Amino acid sequence: MRRATLRPDLAVLTMAGLLDARPRVGYFYDGKKPGLLAAKEVHRLAVDTVKAVPVVVRGGTSVYDCIVALFTEDIGTLFIVSETGYLEGVVSRKDLLKVAMGGVDLPKIPVRVVMTRVPNVVTVRGGESVYEAARLLVEREIDALPVVEPETASGKEALRVTGRFTKTTVTRIFVELGEPSKTL
Ligand code: ADP
Repeated sequence: MRRATLRPDLAVLTMAGLLDARPRVGYFYDGKKPGLLAAKEVHRLAVDTVKAVPVVVRGGTSVYDCIVALFTEDIGTLFIVSETGYLEGVVSRKDLLKVAMGGVDLPKIPVRVVMTRVPNVVTVRGGESVYEAARLLVEREIDALPVVEPETASGKEALRVTGRFTKTTVTRIFVELGEPSKTL
């Protein structure tokens, strides 16, 4: 195929590897659908298979100790749980920064005072797809989701925290899907 016959309108498809161009054959579909395969994969992959270990603290933990935990655990969001391990709230790095800017005595303020609390916490079940979890992060403009399984505790529904799904998790999936030789 001479240069003159290359069609600029198909450039995106050839660059994406979906179409190939050969002399005397013209454009042809080479059978690979990387975009579609990746799309299928994110709907098929369950949150449980990629979730990270949750970092949890109790509601009585001071704001000071929560800030220390962000550094020692190298994370951006902490989950607050009850004595029995059920979700009570979340606190983000900016929540903590806001308190710190108030010039208050950080070791004296329990995190339960500043956290976003259940039922306002957006969560995801382990059986949901990573697409659904990532969609929630984008739609709700948050960085992290507690992965939970509902249980009944003293006649009420409570959420057991089993993991953490964050923007970092999404980035890691993205990179792995981009590697041609790797399947998740
Ligand atoms: P940051 O504010 O540090 O950039 P986020 O964007 O995750 O981090 O948090 C924005 C706000 O949303 C914070 O007030 C935080 O408490 C709250 N938040 C964080 N994660 C969740 C969640 N899973 N469900 C509900 N609210 C959340």
